[in-house]
Amino acid sequence: GSFHDYMLSEDIVKALSGLEYNIPTEVQNRVIPSALEKNDLIVKARTGSGKTAAYAIPICELVEWLENKPQALILVPTRELAVQIKDDFTNIGRFKRVKASAIYGRHQFSIEKAELKQKTHVVVGTPGRVMDHIIKGTLTLSKINYLVIDEADRMFDMGFTDQVEAIMEELPEERMTMLFSATMSDEVKNISNYMRNPVNIDV
Ligand code: AMP
Repeated sequence: GSFHDYMLSEDIVKALSGLEYNIPTEVQNRVIPSALEKNDLIVKARTGSGKTAAYAIPICELVEWLENKPQALILVPTRELAVQIKDDFTNIGRFKRVKASAIYGRHQFSIEKAELKQKTHVVVGTPGRVMDHIIKGTLTLSKINYLVIDEADRMFDMGFTDQVEAIMEELPEERMTMLFSATMSDEVKNISNYMRNPVNIDV
C-alpha cells in the first residue's frame, strides 16, 4: 500500500513524505480507511507499530481548520507521551496548519489555560489534568468530535479508569472514539459500552 491510496488531502500526503513515512505500517493500513469513515475502533497494537500516526493521520485530515474550539481529545497515560504525540500531530498537520496542545500533570496550569483560550484543533492530555480543565471550565468540549484513548491498558493499570469514564460522560455523544491497547482486559472491554458498534482491529 501507499498513503496515496487513501482519501487524504495533498497537505497531509506532503507532510508524510517529509517525515519519510513512505509505506503505511500494518496498523495504519487497517485503521486509516476505517477511521476516515468515522467508525469507532478498538485496536490491539503495540508501541512501535506506528499506532500514533494511525490515528493522527485521519484526525488531521478530518478536523475543520476554521473551527476555533478543540475538535479532538487524545487521552494518554504520561506527560512524555502527551508532549511527543502533540509534536506528531504538529508534524503530520504541518501544511494544513493543524494546531495541537498538550496538557498534563505538574505543568503550569495558567500556561495551559492561556493556550486553550487560543485556537487549537487537537488537545493531548493525561486524564487527571484533562478533568481539572473540564472542572475549571478552561477546556471547551462542545466541539469534540474525535476521542482517542491511547495505551488504554497502561492507563487503567495506573488507576485512571474512573477519570477516563468521567471524561467520556462529559463529551458530546455524537463523536467518533478510537481505543488503542497492547492487551485486551475486562476494563478495556468495559469502555466499549461507551462506543458505537466498535470495529475490532487486531494487528
Ligand atoms: P509508534 O508506534 O506510534 O510509537 O511509532 C513508532 C515509530 O514509527 C515512530 O518513530 C514513528 O515516527 C515511526 N513511523 C510511524 N509510521 C511510519 C511509517 N509509515 N513509515 C516509517 N516510520 C513510521
